[in-house]
Amino acid sequence: MTLTTELVDWTHEQRCRKAVAALERNGFTALYCATSQEAFDYICAEAADAATVGFGGSMSVVDLKVADRLGAMGKELLIHGAPGLSPAERVAVMRRQLTCDLFLSGTNALTLGGWLVNIDATGNRVGSMFFGPKKVIVVAGRNKLVEGGVQEAMARIKEWASPPNARRLSYKTPCATTGVCSDCNAPDRICRITTVIDRRPRLTDLRVVVVNENLGL
Ligand code: SF4
Repeated sequence: MTLTTELVDWTHEQRCRKAVAALERNGFTALYCATSQEAFDYICAEAADAATVGFGGSMSVVDLKVADRLGAMGKELLIHGAPGLSPAERVAVMRRQLTCDLFLSGTNALTLGGWLVNIDATGNRVGSMFFGPKKVIVVAGRNKLVEGGVQEAMARIKEWASPPNARRLSYKTPCATTGVCSDCNAPDRICRITTVIDRRPRLTDLRVVVVNENLGL
């Protein structure tokens, strides 16, 4: 590791720890992880009692490569994007995610004040984040941290999350071609539901793992 890398990581660590402290003040259980391996180990330990594990479709969770391990642990994986599912089967999986034992998600943005900000198209991901599952673990890579409030979080999402996600999913939106949000009204528009979780939802064991690596979009 070069000195530059070391210092960049250290600077990110201070920001991650600031977010963790703010999340804790807001009632969440929050954890700093220096590496994605630490986040991986934490999730596997927290999944010990879970029979069903739901996946919201987050690239951050995909980046952790945790699904295979959880499957090997005998967990039933609720992945609506699994190949071979019919549209009706996909929706059925999404409904089951809402009442799973453990739900895993990323977040589109995490403010340094400890707020989770997300934009969703269907709502299964954001809905499962705040009510239904027995336990929710949100994984936030350092690239998701935002200085400021909801407006700055939305700006991050519109610049770094929605356009590449639209492209990843082959949606016919202007941003999937240009990389820039034009606040479209396309039938494929993925920006349909905006949520701000600013305190731990009172009936949900919502944990946030802040990782000092870039994860997801
Ligand atoms: S509003 Fe439309 S153009 Fe803007 S990011 Fe969302 S899908 Fe893309």
